[in-house]
Amino acid sequence: MNQHSRILFAGDPHGNFKPLIAAVHKYQPEAVILLGDYDLEMPLESCLQEIVNLTEIWWIAGNYDFESPEKYNNLFHSALSDKDLHLKVTKIAGLRVAGLGGIFLGRVWYPPQQPKWLGKQHYLYNQSVNIKRFDLSLKYKSAIWHDEFEILKTLKADILVTHEAPGSHRYGFKAIDELAIAMGVKNIFHGHLHENYIGTINKKINVFGVAKNAVVDLGGNTLESDNQAIQYLV
Ligand SMILES: [Zn+2]
Repeated sequence: MNQHSRILFAGDPHGNFKPLIAAVHKYQPEAVILLGDYDLEMPLESCLQEIVNLTEIWWIAGNYDFESPEKYNNLFHSALSDKDLHLKVTKIAGLRVAGLGGIFLGRVWYPPQQPKWLGKQHYLYNQSVNIKRFDLSLKYKSAIWHDEFEILKTLKADILVTHEAPGSHRYGFKAIDELAIAMGVKNIFHGHLHENYIGTINKKINVFGVAKNAVVDLGGNTLESDNQAIQYLV
């Protein structure tokens, strides 16, 4: 097996899992990592039925996965619910992979602004008694929370997978660069912006943007894509 294809990364499927399934049949990776935004009308394992026994399947959530209780449940209560990489480091095909799902949300934390809430408990505690909520709404669940982000920063990893983009992209966040540098990662793979590109941060961390329905390998090579054009950013 080609060393680069032992892990494949899938950009936002938005309901179309065919490119990922085709790539798994073709390249037989040890594992695949899905970068969020699934638009699930059925549980994740049902969409991936063809490959569920052929490879390890890991994922992070995107913003669309919190859009409705159905989409949320089809991911977070699926048979693959324990394969969520968010806020931890997981050994996958011999590499340490850190995950950061969700998005930066103005009402929670939108770097470089200061966080509005330090964490979920801080937010919940400060809701008025009349509307006291003991559980977060889906919108708030989709947010990246500052305190959890800071804890992730203290861990070490080889690869960071995120839904949001780092500062290498014009719509990215420097906070993710700082996370990657602190964790000592060499490569970042992200979805969300539906664009295939290769970039660099801090002169030595490679960034691979993975487009909607695209599949890339560990070397950032695009194996499946709606649009073969790849942009190179400095
Ligand atoms: Zn998307």
